Amino acid sequence: MSKVSQIGQASLSILIYHRVLARPDPLFPGEVDAVLFQRQLRLLKRFYTPLPLAHAVQRLRDGSLPPRAVCITFDDGYADNAQVALPLLQQHALHATFFIATGYLDGGQMWNDSVIEGVRHASGPVLDLQAVGLGRLHVDTLARRQAAIATLLGQLKYLPFAQRQQLAMHIRRQAGARPRPSAMLSTAQLRQLHAAGMGIGAHTVSHPILATLSERAARLDIANGKRHLEDALQAPVALFAYPNGKMGVDYGAPHVDIVRSLGFTAAVATDWGVARPGAAADLLQLPRFTPWDRGRLAFLWRMRQNRLRPPPARPDAG
Ligand SMILES: [Zn+2]
Repeated sequence: MSKVSQIGQASLSILIYHRVLARPDPLFPGEVDAVLFQRQLRLLKRFYTPLPLAHAVQRLRDGSLPPRAVCITFDDGYADNAQVALPLLQQHALHATFFIATGYLDGGQMWNDSVIEGVRHASGPVLDLQAVGLGRLHVDTLARRQAAIATLLGQLKYLPFAQRQQLAMHIRRQAGARPRPSAMLSTAQLRQLHAAGMGIGAHTVSHPILATLSERAARLDIANGKRHLEDALQAPVALFAYPNGKMGVDYGAPHVDIVRSLGFTAAVATDWGVARPGAAADLLQLPRFTPWDRGRLAFLWRMRQNRLRPPPARPDAG
């Protein structure tokens, strides 16, 4: 199919967000903040057809997807989702679905945030991690702190869960980072999102790379996350997001089967692209996309490029 005819076809763009910072963070100049989020919401309203994810899935299934459909999703469950993103979504009468890793509700900290907070607050000029085999990292300038964070996140990402957790805690302690208020949602804030009509989806308990777990452990982590949310909200939770979400790397066909057997009606990955109506739409492995441009034209251009992307290859989940 030519690119031109592909662009004219109905398609569903699902956007991934994690945080919406109240103010820009010099350590992460690319992170979405309130001003940028507001700008992107305006563009989505003007040039796309925003839909709640659950509705979009239904319309993918029955072939009634409107042109340029778009859904907004958030992963992990950061407190700023309720504090900063929710008021902006409400102001624009837009809907988002929030995928929550339940193990971090009410005061938790994800391993990557332990690393980031450690490096951010390290008194420097050097963060000595030789005791755990991670060397000595220079943290005397902003650029070096950024580089140190990228290096450590890359080194830890695919380690076994317990080891990764331990190293992240060690980095935070070694840096002398004081405990700070949790960046994650409280149960009260989770209920606030739900009461405001937002979608809530499951994202496991502990946010493991599913492919590194036994199938039994993966099933438990997925099922317990779903049950925790359903108990807290007294409502069914039918949407799921694979942690990290790269098909064939972070999860595979067995995890798609688990997700189906637990009664989820749709699940989202992090492979880029759009979903298209018809038999080819795999509702348990919907692609998503992260737009990051600050400029209006670049944002719209990249959204369009994503719509031209060929569909990701999926394994047969029997
Ligand atoms: Zn996640």
